[in-house]
Amino acid sequence: MITEMKSFTPSKTGCLYLVPTPIGNLDDMSVRAVKTLQKVDLIAAEDTRNTQKLLNHFDIHTKQISFHEHNTQQRLPELIAKLQEGLNLAQVSDAGMPSISDPGQELVAACVQKHITVVPLPGPNAALTALIASGIKPQPFYFYGFLPRKTKAQQEALQKLGQLEATFILYESPYRIKKTVAALSAFLSPQRQVALARELTKIHEAFLRGTLAQLEEYFASHEPRGEYVIIVQGRSLEPTAVEITAEQMCKEIEELVQTGKKPNLAIKTVAQKYQRSRQDVYNIYHGLEEKNE
Ligand code: SAM
Repeated sequence: MITEMKSFTPSKTGCLYLVPTPIGNLDDMSVRAVKTLQKVDLIAAEDTRNTQKLLNHFDIHTKQISFHEHNTQQRLPELIAKLQEGLNLAQVSDAGMPSISDPGQELVAACVQKHITVVPLPGPNAALTALIASGIKPQPFYFYGFLPRKTKAQQEALQKLGQLEATFILYESPYRIKKTVAALSAFLSPQRQVALARELTKIHEAFLRGTLAQLEEYFASHEPRGEYVIIVQGRSLEPTAVEITAEQMCKEIEELVQTGKKPNLAIKTVAQKYQRSRQDVYNIYHGLEEKNE
């Protein structure tokens, strides 16, 4: 049965407010976000010390309780009980929208299950902020967040993402961005258009736009700094691969190897020339897939 949950109808239970916070620039905190944090009984924060700085800045004196990925299961019954007692809670993450690659989803699901009103506030979010300035077709888009760290799971994710017709969005830290760009460039055509948005809303905000091959080259001589959003063009807009048989590709790789190039470099050169993913050319060269192109 479908029940309509009206956000602003008085109820005996409390209400969970989902409050986005700035992703860098404090001026992006909305008036409504400040008022909500001031008026609720308790703030469930991913990192209370971090949120305290925000609360101090906006002269908010509401108490906090920690709520993060490592104590979610333990905290859920406690937070639900408080809401059922009639307390109003706000949930915040360290930056941006709660639940988006951040804690929150389990609490929202538990509230929905218990018929507790959930009120989302609009506000800062790194993915959408990057998308609208990327220059890449914004619709349809697919938000993925962080790629899995484990090689096999990451490769499987990249295989699937590479097939998407839609633009897709990833999150990445400065420590892994080089590796992630290299992984993307191995699984997708080197000609795919990508936009990297760095340090959004901060003083060093910058966009790097180009093909995967160009970005890989860029990172060979530039050290990554700051947090990144990666916007990748969908497959439908990729330039069509240049016609060539698998035999011809293997022959060209062999020729390059005979001139002294390392096999992986030869594979990369041929993949770029024919706008194929390095992984596909690698598989063809090493006989890991049928030579039937
Ligand atoms: N909940 C957040 C949101 O709504 O965007 C995302 C939190 S997630 C833990 C952190 C990741 O978001 C970073 O590693 C980075 O990929 C992205 N991010 C957050 N702030 C950013 C910023 N100012 N500039 C670029 N990317 C950012």
